[in-house]
Amino acid sequence: MDDLSAFCCQNPDCPDSGQRGKGNLTVCMRYGRHQRRLLYCKSCKARFSERKGTPLFDTRLPKDKAVTLLEHLADGCGVRQTARLVGVSKDTVVRYAALAGEHAQELHDELVAFSPQDS
Ligand SMILES: [Zn+2]
Repeated sequence: MDDLSAFCCQNPDCPDSGQRGKGNLTVCMRYGRHQRRLLYCKSCKARFSERKGTPLFDTRLPKDKAVTLLEHLADGCGVRQTARLVGVSKDTVVRYAALAGEHAQELHDELVAFSPQDS
């Protein structure tokens, strides 16, 4: 059984959009060389890649390489240095940095949007 608790529906019109652990998602198939999962939302009948909504969505690098790349950036390596260390082009590093930045911003907005509970 796949653990899908970290995923949520990516369809903005779905009643369960952006909410994790609601049990609305199932794996409807696996695809591609890396057997990525295609998720299906029972609430709105949308299908989407498990990578949608993450910085790794629609990118061509193997996950390990992408993660290494982001780690180098997070460690404060420059674009040029990261490209050399990971063995990819500068353009690739820039693209990943931009994607990860956007995602971090969204995640930040989501996390700070939680209101404290009244005691
Ligand atoms: Zn949905």
